[in-house]
Amino acid sequence: MTPLLPTPEHYLYNLITMTSADAKRLWSKAIKEQFNCTCVYCGNNYEINELTLDHVKPKTNGGESLASNLVPACKKCNQGKGSSHWLGWMRSTYGRNHTREQLILNHIS
Ligand SMILES: [Zn+2]
Repeated sequence: MTPLLPTPEHYLYNLITMTSADAKRLWSKAIKEQFNCTCVYCGNNYEINELTLDHVKPKTNGGESLASNLVPACKKCNQGKGSSHWLGWMRSTYGRNHTREQLILNHIS
């Protein structure tokens, strides 16, 4: 398993990889592996390359590109959520799901 570090730069600092392209790839892979290649919002499983990374707190609201603000999401959920608040969007789209909500809360806290 790839260690999960806060940013791609950390993979370079720690000499886990030597190029920034590799660092980005590893970082993205580590975030997706953290959730077993599941979309955090709909709960479906995907191939690693089918998943996108979603900013839980949207970039447009000042959300940072740190592992603690990024979760794997399928394209449909990523687009559907847009810049909405994740919890409100998730509940109105999929209903309440304590387990999935808790997974996200644990990751971002
Ligand atoms: Zn999804």
